[in-house]
Order: sequence, then structure tokens, then C-alpha cells
Amino acid sequence: MTYEVKSLNEECGVFGIWGHPEAAKLTYFGLHSLQHRGQEGAGILSNDQGKLKRHRDMGLLSEVFRNPAKLDKLTGAGAIGHVRYATAGEASVDNIQPFFFRFHDMQFGLAHNGNLTNAASLKTELEQRGAIFSSTSDSEILAHLIRRSHNPSLLGKIKEALSLVKGGFAYLLMFEDKLIAALDPNGFRPLSIGKMANGAVVVSSETCAFEVIGAEWIRDVKPGEIVIIDDNGIQYDSYTNDTQLAICSMEYIYFARPDSNIHGVNVHTARKRMGVQLAREFKYEADIVVGVPNSSLSAAMGFAEESGLPNEMGLIKNQYTQRTFIQPTQELREQGVRMKLSAVSGVVKGKRVVMIDDSIVRGTTSRRIVQLLKEAGASEVHVAIGSPALAYPCFYGIDIQTRQELIAANHTVEETRQIIGADSLTYLSIDGLIDSIGIETDAPNGGLCVAYFDGKYPTPLYDYEEDYRRSLEEKTSFYK
Ligand code: SF4
Repeated sequence: MTYEVKSLNEECGVFGIWGHPEAAKLTYFGLHSLQHRGQEGAGILSNDQGKLKRHRDMGLLSEVFRNPAKLDKLTGAGAIGHVRYATAGEASVDNIQPFFFRFHDMQFGLAHNGNLTNAASLKTELEQRGAIFSSTSDSEILAHLIRRSHNPSLLGKIKEALSLVKGGFAYLLMFEDKLIAALDPNGFRPLSIGKMANGAVVVSSETCAFEVIGAEWIRDVKPGEIVIIDDNGIQYDSYTNDTQLAICSMEYIYFARPDSNIHGVNVHTARKRMGVQLAREFKYEADIVVGVPNSSLSAAMGFAEESGLPNEMGLIKNQYTQRTFIQPTQELREQGVRMKLSAVSGVVKGKRVVMIDDSIVRGTTSRRIVQLLKEAGASEVHVAIGSPALAYPCFYGIDIQTRQELIAANHTVEETRQIIGADSLTYLSIDGLIDSIGIETDAPNGGLCVAYFDGKYPTPLYDYEEDYRRSLEEKTSFYK
């Protein structure tokens, strides 16, 4: 497992299965493929003929289930699992999912990937009506809404609850007799359905989890859709018709694994096309192309192919260092870069290097990598970024929620170039990004959310509206 040197984190990954005697073990393997989406905590909830059992804890999946007995006790033919990185709620075991709710007449488990934009107001309203929350995560809200619905049928209650929550969400719900998957009306987060040879149905944040357990992809969950999986098979339904695909473009740029396919587009292929397009938009002379491992290697391949420059391994990643996301200060982050990456002097010495990276967040990492390449003897370092400049926050499940954290929100391209010490700086254009991903759809922006780059959010921001407006007026200097 590899972790990127970035201060940009996905909120979570979810996996579910119905109809296999080894459901919890397969969920473990599925979650293992999704570990890049969250390393703070993990959990699995199983369903043994209507009896739900759960184990969850802080840490990597392998740490949470270090004792095999923990997994062995999760018997049954159904399971849901979750790997967490928190954007909303504290880092505490109470916030680790799946959540497990027991009532006098029913019980269910819940796993959530995304971020609700009206969580604060819903929570206040629910508490005023007597609800007691056991976590500080916004994921628990849906359970309260389901429980409080007066709709006579369970499906009606779930649909009503789903129509009240706003923002980005992919939910998995495990009931005594069914597994339910649901996606927000814009489909911000990916969610795919697959099938195993014995007929078991699986649902996963990314299709890479299907490969590892031998499942075959059936289709992606659509925006506003609710999928009911039980012993009778799969039933597709929807809780709203007001939908428009706007999947997070950062899934393709950075978050998802290169072997995953999202809405018919392979992530590696999309990244390679971003590199091709970046080469077309790049205007400088250079000798070699060097991708920042690992998420920029696909884009570097595309750039090299299009430009005709050799693609060299000028940066090496140490796979076995600690995770930098737990380091809070800029200084420690910089040290983290040194521990994780080395420049190969024999490759870059005396060369004009095009350094390909997928994105620039605070600029700290880019500055350190440029410095590493120059210290290793590169005569020039031209930074080419496989995405447009990140200038706006995300409220749909990525942990950058203020503009102060983003260098491009506070500085021009030329200022950013100076701060990171590069000889030139090129970002991919927004149109170039949309064309490179190339989802087959009539939706605006090629079915992508590009709000990180243009500030045009596909939905109202609800509870975040005021914070966002205020943040537009504040500027931070990244100069030291
Ligand atoms: S704002 Fe950015 S990170 Fe958030 S969903 Fe949109 S593209 Fe993805």
C-alpha cells in the first residue's frame, strides 16, 4: 500500500456484499483495495441471518483486524465495511464506521462516503426534537431521519431521509434482510455494483475492489438512485428525479486507484490523457519528463508520449515511511517529503526536467520536490500540473474547506512559480481536463464537478454558504 505526499484527503471508502458465506472476509479484501481512501480507522459489520455484528477501530485495516478472531466472529452471508479519513467529526473510535443502530423493532448498519452540506442545521433540528447523537460525524444523521420518518414502509422512510440530506454521499445500509446502496443526486462520489460467480452482489466505492475478490462489474450506481439487494436479487429505484451527474474530477486526477474504472473511464487512461493534453498546452524546452510517484506516473507517460521526450525515473518513492497526513505543521510536512521521495542524481544531473505532478495544494510539497531535483543537479525544473489550479474549497467530501489552505487561491501563477522555486509552472486548462476524462454524457462539464477549479458549485452550499463567502474575502500569503 502506498500513500501520497499530499495534504489532500478523500473522506472514505465503502464496500458491501450480499449472498456469500464468507461475506466479512471478502469485505476485508475489498476494503484492503480501498485503503488509499482512508487510513484513520476501519470497520466491518456482518449480517448472519438477520443478526448484525460489528468490529471497528482506529488504524489501518490490517491493524484493526490484526487478531484474526475479530474477523472470524463476523459470520454471515452479508456485510458492509468502511475505511475512514475524517473531514467532518473528530478522530475518535466513536466516529469509525459502519455505525450500528439498535431499536426495539429493528437494527441496521450504515457506512457513508462523502460530506453533507446541511449537516449542522439538520443536527440542530434533530437534537431540538430529542435526538441523541453518539458520534460527532455527520454520517449518523441519516439514521435519525430514517427512524423519525412517518412513512409506513421502510423503503419510503429511507427515500424520505435521503431527500432531506444535501451534499455528497454514497451510503451503504445493512438491514436484517437487505443491503441498500444510495448515491446523492449529483453522484459526487463513485459507487459501483458487481457480481460474484456464486451470484453474490457486491457494491464498492471503486471497481479495483472487484478484481481482488473475483467479482465482475455490472454497472455504476446512478445519481439519485437507491439500489435494494436481497435474496431476490437487485432492484433499482430512485428517491429523486432532480439529478445531474457531477462526479468529483479529483477522483480521476488523484484519489482513485489507476486500475479503477469510473463511469466507463479507466482512471490510469484518464490520467494519461491529462498528460497528453498537458504536453499540448506546455510551451517550454526540456530534456526529460519526470513524474512524481505514484499518482502522477500515468500523466507523465502521456506527456512523454505526446512531447517525444524520454520519460525517466528521476524521483524514487520510499514505500515504507510513515503517513504524512497525521503531521499537522508545515515544517513536519516538509520533512515528510524528504523521507518519502529521493531525486536520482544520475538521471536528472545537467538536465532540463519537466516535473509532472497531479496537483498543487499548499505548494509545500512541490517546493520541496523542485528543491530535491535541483540539489540532485537538474539544470532547470519546469513544473507541469495535470489538473487546473486548485483555487476553491470542497464541501462534498474532501478535506480542504477553506481557501486559506490553497496556494492558488492566494497567489497568481507567477507568484506560485516563485514560491515553489520552479523555472516555469503550467497548469492543465479546465477544458483540457474535461476532454481528457471524457465521460460519455450530456451533463454540463462532461459530467464532472470542477468546482475546486472554478468555484461554480453544482449545488447550493447550505450551511457552508456564509463561511465560503467570507473566505472569498480573506487572503493568506504563502511567502516566508
Ligand atoms: S469541489 Fe473539487 S474535490 Fe470537491 S467534489 Fe468538486 S471537484 Fe471534487
